[in-house]
Amino acid sequence: MIRELSRKLHAGEITSAELTEQYIRKIEEVNPKLNAYVHLLYDRARADAARADEMLKAGRGSLLCGIPYALKSNICTEGIVTDCCSKMLEDYKPIYSSTIVEKLKNEGTVLLGKTNMDEFAMGSTSESSVYGAPKNPMDIRYSTGGSSGGSAAAVAADLAVFAIGSDTGGSVRQPAALCGVTGFSPSYGYVSRYGLIAYASSFDTIGILSASPEDAGIVFDAIKGKDKKDATSIDYENDLKVSGAPQKSDKKLAILSDFSEKTKELLKQYEVETEEVSIPYLSLALPAYYIIACAECSSNLGRYDGVRYGHRAKKFSDVDDMMVKSRSEGFGREVKKRIMLGTFVLQAGFYDDYYKKACMVREKLSAAFSEIFEKYDYIALPTAPDGHIRLGEKHDAVKMYLGDIATVPANLAGIPAVSVNAGKDENGLPIGLQIMAARGKDNELFKFAQKFSKGGRL
Ligand code: GLN
Repeated sequence: MIRELSRKLHAGEITSAELTEQYIRKIEEVNPKLNAYVHLLYDRARADAARADEMLKAGRGSLLCGIPYALKSNICTEGIVTDCCSKMLEDYKPIYSSTIVEKLKNEGTVLLGKTNMDEFAMGSTSESSVYGAPKNPMDIRYSTGGSSGGSAAAVAADLAVFAIGSDTGGSVRQPAALCGVTGFSPSYGYVSRYGLIAYASSFDTIGILSASPEDAGIVFDAIKGKDKKDATSIDYENDLKVSGAPQKSDKKLAILSDFSEKTKELLKQYEVETEEVSIPYLSLALPAYYIIACAECSSNLGRYDGVRYGHRAKKFSDVDDMMVKSRSEGFGREVKKRIMLGTFVLQAGFYDDYYKKACMVREKLSAAFSEIFEKYDYIALPTAPDGHIRLGEKHDAVKMYLGDIATVPANLAGIPAVSVNAGKDENGLPIGLQIMAARGKDNELFKFAQKFSKGGRL
């Protein structure tokens, strides 16, 4: 899709201004039904498009020049509301842009708007957004998934050519699977996190939602790379060549015994050979993830106290009361719960029982993945084995957390993973197939995954 659009833009068959107006018209028509975008930036988009057309005319345009995209609401844009869909940050306008936004700007892309998401990216249905949940374009009675639900819906309904999301434990891949598009989360550190509002820093990645793995690869090329402003970013192509096994010519695909039945069912339609492998501690991935993620979030969200950042309560008696009231009013239920859980697992006396053990599990899992990638190039598994969730349905929290079982392992190990559309379920709703690769093998992953992708947008 990007390649073809880019060809048209470069050939002058369409201008970026015209393309942008087409998208704006469609957003005006469809977005009120879907609630995918929560902040529309038409003026900025038109200015971006005019700049892109000049770049194209001057012959300076790259593949992404003139292409309209959508951005998740937890990624900073200078002077533009970046509220994480939380009351806590309702008027927050950053004084700087994230590295990836700068990079995309230099490419000549067009920013259409900011998308709906779970508050502070915590959740799997996008229902914890202060703006209410986005709706799945494939059937609006269903959830888009989350937390990058708005980004997934925008791409699925073609309200943007591609979208940027964030993936801490599956928030790009799971909504991509449920909306029928491609969702990619990179190796940890491959894309700068500078300007991404932190949830759980040791897992957070900026990911891509697109029509195909090929498109994701094009966007990845533009946003990847080491960044002085993010000390955890890594120059995988030069500094870390050793990561993972050398690419084997026969592209051996492993499947995990925990998901073997469902994976085989998904892969039946493709002609591929697989071998089953097992990871001893895989069932502990989920508790380990939630312990570490909550611990990190309790620390990261400490800054929203009504003084340094965030909503400030109007009535209070002293400074302590002001902070308590500001935080109580500013955060929603899910965020509060996680801050409390995180504070609990970090407190003296419990630290060793929870946090330390979870870190040990994380290390064991990473080692197990490295071992598998000594022998195999890729691992296939379902993205969202529990399937679709109806909006408004009462679901208990533990059940929701359990739904992340297939996505959190990649974040624990810091490896790249992509979800592609693999067809439809018995209700005609999309299903996702996930493919993981060794750390640093992101570029190879796009090419391999492309063969499995069935497209699937509206
Ligand atoms: N559903 C997971 C969580 O709630 C993942 C969220 C994410 O990746 N941001 O933590």
